[in-house]
Amino acid sequence: MQDKLGRTINYLRLSITDRCNLRCCYCMPATGVPACEHGDVLRYEELLKITEAAVSLGIEKVRITGGEPLVRKGLISFLKQLGSLSGLTEMTLTTNGLLLEETAERLKAVGVNRLNVSLDSLDHQTYKQITRGGDLKKVLTGLDAAEQAGLRLKLNMVVMRGINDQEVEAFAALSQKHPWSVRFIEYMPTIREAVWKNRVISGGEILERLKLTFTLSSIPTSRLCGPAKPYRIDGAMGTVGIITPMSEHFCGNCNRIRVTSQGLAKSCLLSDQALDLRSALAKGPQSIRDALVEVISGKNQQHHFEEEERCFQMSSVGG
Ligand code: SAM
Ligand code: SF4
Repeated sequence: MQDKLGRTINYLRLSITDRCNLRCCYCMPATGVPACEHGDVLRYEELLKITEAAVSLGIEKVRITGGEPLVRKGLISFLKQLGSLSGLTEMTLTTNGLLLEETAERLKAVGVNRLNVSLDSLDHQTYKQITRGGDLKKVLTGLDAAEQAGLRLKLNMVVMRGINDQEVEAFAALSQKHPWSVRFIEYMPTIREAVWKNRVISGGEILERLKLTFTLSSIPTSRLCGPAKPYRIDGAMGTVGIITPMSEHFCGNCNRIRVTSQGLAKSCLLSDQALDLRSALAKGPQSIRDALVEVISGKNQQHHFEEEERCFQMSSVGG
């Protein structure tokens, strides 16, 4: 389906939980994160109905996200059902990787081909600091397990000045040894900490820094691809990419809608507008389709997050 500006909407990001086994400093505040009640979260059966309706409107790719999707019980059988929806050509998942070692093979078996793993440091102490307690060793073991299972991998690094920006070259070098797509994401000041302005590094600056160390060639993107501008380091097995939601928004090519674990459909990550799908769910498939059409039709030309004072937790929308 196309929105009012002629953009083809073929990608759904589906958050299945607000819960997470980490507390990354850029995503959640240190304290005061209320745990969502079980009753507030959509049942798998409801998430499936929403996806079915979305696919009937032309959605071809679904990304499962959260919170941390691998912490929700019953995920594997849900994915198996989701993967069997006809019309869905791609089912992917974004994870912090902590539970990948035990789940990678089962994910592959039910039809997940690609994973995005969020990893912001290759230094144990820095990783622990950013994630407020995470164990880097577990993520690295998880990445090995995912490779062994035959899952294609994208690595997402949120770059923050003074925290992990000294590691961008080391992350880029991972694409030389592995067939991974390593993506650098501009830090978005979603929780509005006092120091956020000092932490933002533009995609342009990241690219300039990489060019000092590596010879990069720009490469084409594919139709269902995300907003990363991809490059290849000479001779590398994988690629590097830069995602610039703040300095150079990619709203003109936006192809996605989002549904949160509590059933709020959103036409933009950085907008506060949402449509509650629960009453449509109670009425049946046509009502869900109508609600999604309303969301797609209401998609704005671009976000204006920089000019707003609003804050939100990325874990409640799914990134
Ligand atoms: N827990 C999973 C994970 O971390 O991959 C999935 C959910 S997480 C909210 C999805 C993505 O949002 C992650 O790649 C994370 O790095 C990104 N993210 C969260 N807060 C962000 C922020 N303030 N700026 C940029 N990216 C952010
Ligand atoms: Fe959890 Fe992902 Fe947010 Fe980190 S970025 S706190 S892993 S939801």
